[in-house]
Amino acid sequence: MSGVLQTAEPGPERCTFCSAEAVGPCASCRALVCGDCCTLTEGGAGTWAICLDCDRKGGRSLAGAWRSFGAFLVGILVLLAVVVVLLATMGDR
Ligand SMILES: [Zn+2]
Ligand SMILES: [Zn+2]
Repeated sequence: MSGVLQTAEPGPERCTFCSAEAVGPCASCRALVCGDCCTLTEGGAGTWAICLDCDRKGGRSLAGAWRSFGAFLVGILVLLAVVVVLLATMGDR
């Protein structure tokens, strides 16, 4: 290392895996990651960024669990919607 790390401007936070600008911390290990070094996982209340390490360690199983849970919820919502529509049409007549 020959003094490359000293920069005048503060600049944005850097990705843990490469030197690109970090977009946010990993949802699992809090390491800062950029858009290229993370996997977006949809689950629960939003979208999570998982770093490559955590994705390899078992983020996929977590994502799979959330995905099936989401599909389950969507199924229930669709069923409820169908029932509501049926009740509404029956009530009008
Ligand atoms: Zn990166
Ligand atoms: Zn991580």
